[in-house]
This record gives sequence, C-alpha cells and structure tokens, in this order.
Amino acid sequence: MHTDLAKLVVLQVHDIEAKRLRDEIAALPKLVAALETKAAATVGQRAVVLDLIAKDEALRRRLESDIADLRLKVERTQKKIDVATTAVQVNAFEHEATFARAEINRMEDEELESMERGEALEAQRGLADEAVAEAAKTLERERDRAAETIARDRTLLAEVDRKRIALRKEIAQSETGEASLSTYDRISRGKGTAVSEALNQKCTACQMMIRPQRWNDLRDNSADSESALTLMTCENCGRMLYYDPARDSPDRKLVPVESIAASIVRSL
Ligand SMILES: [Zn+2]
Repeated sequence: MHTDLAKLVVLQVHDIEAKRLRDEIAALPKLVAALETKAAATVGQRAVVLDLIAKDEALRRRLESDIADLRLKVERTQKKIDVATTAVQVNAFEHEATFARAEINRMEDEELESMERGEALEAQRGLADEAVAEAAKTLERERDRAAETIARDRTLLAEVDRKRIALRKEIAQSETGEASLSTYDRISRGKGTAVSEALNQKCTACQMMIRPQRWNDLRDNSADSESALTLMTCENCGRMLYYDPARDSPDRKLVPVESIAASIVRSL
C-alpha cells in the first residue's frame, strides 16, 4: 500500500468521527428547541382549560346572584299580593311571580349544566397539569443530557481535531504528501469520503467490481507494485482504493460465478 494512503485511511476515520461529533453538537440544540416548543404547547393547552373553568365559574356566580335577586322579587311580589285590593292587581302580581319563578328554574338548570361541565373541565385540568409536568420533566432531562453530550463531544472533537492536524502535518512531510492530501480533500468534498476499502474484488463504497488486473495490483504487497507506488482509485466512484489482507480471509473470498455454476451442476 502507498505510504500516504495508509495514513489517509486513518485520517478518514478521524474525519468521519469529527463530522459525527460536529453533526451531533449541531443537532442537539434543535432537539431541545423542539421539546421547548412542545412544553410551551402543553402550557397553552392548560391555559385554554383554565380559561374555560374561570368563565364557567363567573357564569355560576352571576346566575347565583340573579337567582337571589329573583327570589327577593318573588318574596316582595308575594307581599304585594297579600295587600292587593283588586283582582286585576292580584292577577298582575301573580303573573309577575310566576314569570320570576320560571326564570329561577331556568337559571337553576343552567347552573346545573355549568356544574356538570365544570366536573368535566376539572378532569381536563388534571390531564393538562400532568401533560405540563411531564413535558417540563422531559425538557429538563433532555436539556441536561444535551448539555452533557455537547460538552463531552467538544472534548472528543478537540482531541480528534488535534489528531487530524498532526496526521495531516505528518502526511505533508512525504514527497507526495501535499498532492495526496489535496486529492483526498477534493474527493471527500465531492463524495463525503475519499478512501474506500477494496474487499472481495469490490469497492466497498460504491459496490462496483474491480477488474482482475487492478485487483491483483491492489493485493500486490511488493515495494515496487502499482499499489505501492501510486494512489489507485475506483474506476467507478473515483475514491482511493486500499486493500487490507487481514480483512480478506480465505472464506470471505469471492467465488467466481463459473465455479458456483459448476458446483451446482456437480451437485445435481
Ligand atoms: Zn467505488
């Protein structure tokens, strides 16, 4: 393997980890913001219920006061009936009293309805209180966790960045280092990753087969081989290919299609 490439493989591991950490650091505040919105929504829903309860309570106070007034009116009218001197007067007062009693009945019904509604609203208030408490608890827990994770990620990122910078410096010192780094940077900008393992005669990044000659070159460990002298790339995706003999154990080797067919024929 080209000496630069061996280091670029490690650099890519660090680069991927650095990206993962940066992504997580960026994503966690968004997660917390979404939970804040959710918590605020539960508070808003509870406020609606509390408002309905307050309106119903005000309605009942008004009804009770009106009913008390009407009862007084009925009492007064009753006294007027007692002292009335003509049948016309008695009729008029009785009519008044009947009307007031009907009003009292109507308002008492309305009050009863309001009280029944009030029970349902109290149940809703209980649920809304639970939802508010639960959302607040979740928010607090996730906020703490996000803060801890971000702090830990920043420490890890500083360490990974330190390794990346040191490794790039080391790569740049070789004769071909600067060129290798700029190739690496160009491919990773375009594709996300610049280095791909060749395994089972395939590029593991794009899954394209590697032609036999190139595959042999990649696996050639000698110091003057193609893969030791140049940075070999995948003909399909353009990533730099490397071969790790330790990963390519005999049982993982690709069986040629012909021999699979042959073995099927033999087993028949
Ligand atoms: Zn490829």
